[in-house]
Amino acid sequence: MNEVLITADRVIIGPADQVIDDGSVLVDDGVITAVGTAAELDTSVDVSVSRLRCPGATILPGMIDCHVHLAFDAGPDPISAVAHADPGELAAAMADRAEQMLAAGVTTVRDLGDRDALTVPLRASIESGTAAGPRILAATAPLTSRGGHCGFLGGEVTTDDDIRAQIARNAAAGADLIKVMASGGSLTPSGPRMWEPQFAPRQLRLMVDEAARYGLGVAAHAHGTDAIAHCVAAGVRTIEHCSWRTADGTVYDPEITRRMVENDIAVCRCVSGDWRGFLDKLGPERAEAMAGHIRKMREADVRFIAGTDAGVPGARFGDYVGMLEFFASLDFTLAEILDMATTNSAHALGLTDTGVLAPGMRADLIVIDGNPLTELDALRRIQHVFTAGRLVIK
Ligand SMILES: [Zn+2]
Repeated sequence: MNEVLITADRVIIGPADQVIDDGSVLVDDGVITAVGTAAELDTSVDVSVSRLRCPGATILPGMIDCHVHLAFDAGPDPISAVAHADPGELAAAMADRAEQMLAAGVTTVRDLGDRDALTVPLRASIESGTAAGPRILAATAPLTSRGGHCGFLGGEVTTDDDIRAQIARNAAAGADLIKVMASGGSLTPSGPRMWEPQFAPRQLRLMVDEAARYGLGVAAHAHGTDAIAHCVAAGVRTIEHCSWRTADGTVYDPEITRRMVENDIAVCRCVSGDWRGFLDKLGPERAEAMAGHIRKMREADVRFIAGTDAGVPGARFGDYVGMLEFFASLDFTLAEILDMATTNSAHALGLTDTGVLAPGMRADLIVIDGNPLTELDALRRIQHVFTAGRLVIK
């Protein structure tokens, strides 16, 4: 299949306030070549071009998950599972998870930590069309302190030379970006606490500079308020989690937030589709504090991007819309949520060829039954998924 003209009740070209009613998108050889009203494109496009008519449906940019771990199984103990898995079996499981994400309408994922850089050959198989899956941006092994968060993935560093060597190794393995564990994390209870910084500010700056030498940006896992401050000062591209933790609770800092906005550092406030269970475990007081921080960041115009942390316990692959519903529960508008899932995520990931539907862009798009600007659940009713112009679902 090469050229196809897709028509639906509406086309959300992106950002989500840009809508064409009774619209069409023309796709040719992996690229969008025209976007307009159905009336004008139906007459201007040659009758020999195949038509895909989708009454009642919406065409929108493919969705982006900025935080996944294809190497983790979403079970209760992903660490043992990943540590003991046979490489061949692990690679097959990762391919299967990628396919589940694509079926959910996710056409781009950023993998923020794998084993043995196994996302790199999977990325190649998907690019060449031998495997079905979203476009992958791979971080490979996250940099972490000795005994620190996710050290079992192979990225432990102590000295400046270790940092330079690990970034060189990741770049040589084909990494698209560098991930750093700037604070502790819940998956690694033996390491630093979630609020504790794992690196000195100077080391974080070294990582950002060193990554830049290879043309790579840095994504920083940071739960602690101190770690968040250090990452913002160091100039990372995205802050993952951003939960403002301290030794005794949480402390939100509007000044750090202001600098984040000023420097266009995005926040990936990961939640899984099972966020209700997570909030129950947190308890009402901490859940309200978490909601309050997100509201304050939103009021300050922080660029939020979408991430599920798929692969960690309870974060299933393909439950992307469940994550978006968390933001609806905090009164984000549906247009804001769609932008988070598409244009804002593409921008933060440095992708200029996806996230909106316009001539010259990669044909990463989905067709869903219904209107996601009035009903988020419509995003679960996937009719078709195109990735780089290939019709991969239906
Ligand atoms: Zn993660």
